[in-house]
Amino acid sequence: MDMIAKLLDKGFARVIVLDGPSCGVEEKTLLLALWTYAMEKQHAKGEAWIHPYYGISHHAYQAARAFVEECQATGLPVALRDDVRLKPIFARLPGFSQGRNTLSYIEGIGSRFYVKTFAVDLPMEPTHQLEAENHALHCGDCRRCMEACPTGAIAEDGFHMERCIRYWMMPGKPVPEDIRASMGDRLIGCDECQKCCPHNPEAAGEPGMTVPLLRLLTEHKQMVEELKPVIGVNLTLPNRLLAQSCMIAGCSGREDLLPALEALTEHPSEAVREHAAWAAKCIRNKQI
Ligand code: SF4
Ligand code: SF4
Repeated sequence: MDMIAKLLDKGFARVIVLDGPSCGVEEKTLLLALWTYAMEKQHAKGEAWIHPYYGISHHAYQAARAFVEECQATGLPVALRDDVRLKPIFARLPGFSQGRNTLSYIEGIGSRFYVKTFAVDLPMEPTHQLEAENHALHCGDCRRCMEACPTGAIAEDGFHMERCIRYWMMPGKPVPEDIRASMGDRLIGCDECQKCCPHNPEAAGEPGMTVPLLRLLTEHKQMVEELKPVIGVNLTLPNRLLAQSCMIAGCSGREDLLPALEALTEHPSEAVREHAAWAAKCIRNKQI
């Protein structure tokens, strides 16, 4: 089986073959393997929500590692290359575009995809050639994501990373109060600036992953172990996950979570303590 067939067999939806040096890598070929997914029509309410991207990206990562191991076992010079900057490549790749929300889109697929990059030190026939100029934004007069963003991160003068909820998900330190109140039920991920975008197809997926909020607060270590195989180690660092859980507990308004939150105000982590105290205050005062 050739390398492209192997990647498709592992679940990747499409493989783009590019000349390596024209993408800034020394190896002769760069492979971009795309994993696509459908957005949920509606996610289950009332608990802690995980955006489908994070489950599929973990799945794609595991498939990519298995692919590299199999190739290397047969002597093929293939390596995973997470250090290659993709935005400048997408900006010149035919069929790709970018929106004001800074996300990359593929014609016919939209922004719901994840990419794994492989360098191959063998010549392969490119499927695409990079264009000479960067593409213009695909937005025209549209302002939908600017209006939909709960924290005003997308503005006329560009994208303000420090206003984006995703930037403040599990940073390991206390999150500014005005951002905390916008977390809603998002344990990981935010979809507002994608679901409103006319360049994305209608959401068609079934409701995906939610996690019981009370268990996140009271059976924390067990939840970390359960989530690790689903979304990976980086997104399940214990105190970060707990601090994020406290924030969304505060946004939930649920009084049954108060005892667990009050107990966490004595936690050794500053972010957990501060978020737990904030959440308990919000619930007691019916602030959100
Ligand atoms: S991910 Fe959410 S918070 Fe960030 S820019 Fe998009 S809508 Fe705004
Ligand atoms: S919602 Fe509109 S402005 Fe935002 S990225 Fe999509 S097309 Fe562009």
